[in-house]
Amino acid sequence: MNNLSRRHMMQQAGLGLGLAGATTMLGPSRVDAVTPSQVYASLPVLDEIDVLVCGGGAAGIGAGMAAAQQGARTLVIENCTFFGGVISWMVGMEMNQMRPKGMPRSDTIERLIKQMESYGPQSMRFLNKHAIIPNVEYFKVAVLDCFDAVNCDYLVGLRAADAIVEDNVVKGVVVATRQGLMRINAQSIVDCTGDADIAHYAGAETWIYDEGMLGAMTLGSNYNHWQKLRKTFAGGRDKYPLLPKVDIIRQVAGCDFSFLNNEGSLVLGNRCAVDLKQRTETETQLSRQLVQNVRAMREFGDTDELKNAELVGAAQQVATRESRRLHGEYTLTMADIESGTTHPDTVAWRTGGIDVGPGGLYKPNGMNLFDIPYRSLLPIKVDGLIVAGRCISADHIPSLSGKSIGNQFAAGQGAGTAAAVAAKRGVLPRKIDVGEVQAILAKDNVDLFPANRSTRA
Ligand SMILES: Cc1cc2nc3c(=O)[nH]c(=O)nc-3n(C[C@H](O)[C@H](O)[C@H](O)COP(=O)(O)OP(=O)(O)OC[C@H]3O[C@@H](n4cnc5c(N)ncnc54)[C@H](O)[C@@H]3O)c2cc1C
Repeated sequence: MNNLSRRHMMQQAGLGLGLAGATTMLGPSRVDAVTPSQVYASLPVLDEIDVLVCGGGAAGIGAGMAAAQQGARTLVIENCTFFGGVISWMVGMEMNQMRPKGMPRSDTIERLIKQMESYGPQSMRFLNKHAIIPNVEYFKVAVLDCFDAVNCDYLVGLRAADAIVEDNVVKGVVVATRQGLMRINAQSIVDCTGDADIAHYAGAETWIYDEGMLGAMTLGSNYNHWQKLRKTFAGGRDKYPLLPKVDIIRQVAGCDFSFLNNEGSLVLGNRCAVDLKQRTETETQLSRQLVQNVRAMREFGDTDELKNAELVGAAQQVATRESRRLHGEYTLTMADIESGTTHPDTVAWRTGGIDVGPGGLYKPNGMNLFDIPYRSLLPIKVDGLIVAGRCISADHIPSLSGKSIGNQFAAGQGAGTAAAVAAKRGVLPRKIDVGEVQAILAKDNVDLFPANRSTRA
């Protein structure tokens, strides 16, 4: 396990976003007296709220809607200029486990589904009982309409760049905006960045799996055909070394083009999304990979469709399966996912299969429905913070297993509800009564304790 504490490293190095400047101004003898919080205190306050959700992917959308529904003044901030995270930048990917076995998993998630349906049949369709193929552009608007309906505020195009920590409690974040650095103060903060950015900035324990390959990063792409590619790519690999070995290609519902998901970064070796150089190499090489894909289709393909292949589009950025994550009060283990462990402090559950991604371990029946205990969302030492989404506290395979969109929405909903309860009661997230959160979730028709767990799996 690779333990990282950024705040500790920054203090050792005397570095920080504002602190670096302060160090120069005050001279070396005063460095120790200046804390990042003191420097950040001078930043303009962008907002002061009950619940701040950082990151607006599946988990952040669930968290924002849930917190706002509890009457908490809630703000969701998003680095991109739209919400959805991986959902929105992978055109043609299905949203799995939105209705496991065809059964609604909460009124909140149903609100989002119904909102999408309200725009007409072109906006989404069920692929099977549990999975939705959205038209991404309608999905983005459905999120906005749902946020508006529950009075959840949102801002896009800004990035949480540091955490403001006082006495080991996260009090807010510093955001990098086009107007410069600003601060947002909040009673409770939910880290839905996918890479545990806020936990890392706050100095909470985070870690990156370092005993083998991380789950792949993939640049989703779309083509004007939906032909199987393995044979074509195998034929072209000598000439085009970036061609993926494993791919899943399928026609995008109702469209004349396909979506290609593949093991992407594995052709480069082990790459981590939060390492700047490795991330840059991955983003740029996977762009080149798409051009190699289409050239190989034309030169080595044996059908007219392949000979006339064209790239229709690509995701805005690579999608990350696994990177830095929280080391929390409880870490989900293989035993949990294989036996379907129940936990008294559950705030959500995951169902589906073990799926490390193309090119990695795939065992569709290898896991049982398992609980997400509230403790797996809580940092060990730092307070004021709840983590949800793909960066919760879990071992390598458990973090990747059942990572489907529906499961991430559900965990976000649990986290957002807990953040709202903490803000309402004026206590730290660690001190809340989880029973109160569970009761609120039950009113939203979340079946937290399915009597027959196999009916949901
Ligand atoms: C290649 C790939 C294929 C997949 N295929 C499927 C599939 O077919 N079906 C399925 O159901 N699931 C699939 N998944 C799983 C699913 O997409 C993820 O588990 C899910 O997207 C995780 O949701 P999240 O909200 O935790 O993170 P993300 O979706 O990554 O969202 C995180 C959001 O936070 C924002 N953000 C990050 N840092 C900051 C910051 N510092 N400040 C502000 N905003 C920030 C990001 O821009 C992003 O919008 C796939 C995942 C990958 C990577």
